[in-house]
Amino acid sequence: MARSALPRVAVGTVLRLRGDDWRSGRGLTPGTGVVVVLANLTRADKEGWVWVHGHGPQCSYPHVESHPPCLELLARVAALRPDAP
Ligand SMILES: [Zn+2]
Repeated sequence: MARSALPRVAVGTVLRLRGDDWRSGRGLTPGTGVVVVLANLTRADKEGWVWVHGHGPQCSYPHVESHPPCLELLARVAALRPDAP
């Protein structure tokens, strides 16, 4: 098994991250809460963190697949809500 599996969070999940749950957000204000509609997760070099790619809530939901994710930030894995069965 990989050293850190990506958390299972469904595409389209609305993630509400507190200011200390993320960093390195492109075009975002550090230390503030952020809402991301999840499009994709990718592995980060840092243990316990994951790259979150997604859209702001102002994006039109039916078209989330039609343009590249406009938000990208490094989030604490523990802050993501896995869709556990
Ligand atoms: Zn978008």
